[in-house]
Amino acid sequence: MHNVGLSCFIASHSKDKQVRYMIKDISNLQVKLQTLLAAQQEFYTQGKVANYIPALAEVSPEKMGVCVSTIDGKTVGAGDYQEPFSIQSISKVFGLVMAMNRIGDDLWQRVNMEPSGQPFNSIIQLEWEKGIPRNPVINAGALLVADVLTSHFSSSKLAFLSFMRSLAHDDSIYIDNYVYQSELAHGSRNAALGYLMKSFGNIESEIPEVLNHYFTQCSVAMSCEQLATSLLFLANKGIDPISKEAICTPRDAHRVNAILSTSGMYDQSGEFAFSIGLPAKSGVGGGVIAIVPNYGVICTWSPPLNSFGNSVIGTNLVASLAQELGLSIYH
Ligand code: GLN
Repeated sequence: MHNVGLSCFIASHSKDKQVRYMIKDISNLQVKLQTLLAAQQEFYTQGKVANYIPALAEVSPEKMGVCVSTIDGKTVGAGDYQEPFSIQSISKVFGLVMAMNRIGDDLWQRVNMEPSGQPFNSIIQLEWEKGIPRNPVINAGALLVADVLTSHFSSSKLAFLSFMRSLAHDDSIYIDNYVYQSELAHGSRNAALGYLMKSFGNIESEIPEVLNHYFTQCSVAMSCEQLATSLLFLANKGIDPISKEAICTPRDAHRVNAILSTSGMYDQSGEFAFSIGLPAKSGVGGGVIAIVPNYGVICTWSPPLNSFGNSVIGTNLVASLAQELGLSIYH
């Protein structure tokens, strides 16, 4: 049940130098992305589109896109890579960076940096561990981060949106109000996580305010192209290669990548590291981002999810691309 076939991508990387070179040839990569997408067409039936809210359940399972953006300014995509989708938990990466920038190491007094080995919205561990979330990219941790943001920004939702727009260099990025309303109407489990942490004294703001921020950031709509561009700073030691601006310190870029490597794909993170070896984050909207340090960012989108809440095709695409291009942080 746990094996979703990623291990078939463990292959010899002996052609590394040769394939890394190919990335410089954009037309070649474009053809490769199209070929990889075509090879995945039939697999959309292997997963289930998130159905906990109507706004996600209504998205076509056949949507599929992939984009690669490099720190030297190249962007190549195929399929629906320019169509915005609900970024959902991929937003946790950006929230984390904002919170780290705002309160520094104090954050790590309130949230841990260990893999959880539990589903992303699990409550059980939080009780045992006295309201300290295992890491900032499971829901409990992201709610804790949302609390930091609501208590340190006069308007955390606006601050979040403008952060996304500036990172993507695109002011058209928006919050999908239909998704937001849907999240709000089905937010009991996240509310439970929030109140449990508050009962342990680990949440400062009022829970409705924290949930409001969290659901807003989950409801940001972005395309593969926008997401890949906006995360380039994590592949470039914290510096946005387009504006040359420092988005976070090199140490914090390292830390975020470490957390994404160990926890970004939830309780499939071990298998993902074992088979692929890139810091990555998924969202229940079907997006997956993978950071390739000193090189660039891969973003894929395909709504049907596996049992871990990760996109089936998105994960396959990252796996095959990483294998073909010889991309792994463990080489
Ligand atoms: N909005 C979703 C939730 O909070 C996000 C989860 C996810 O993308 N894994 O449950």
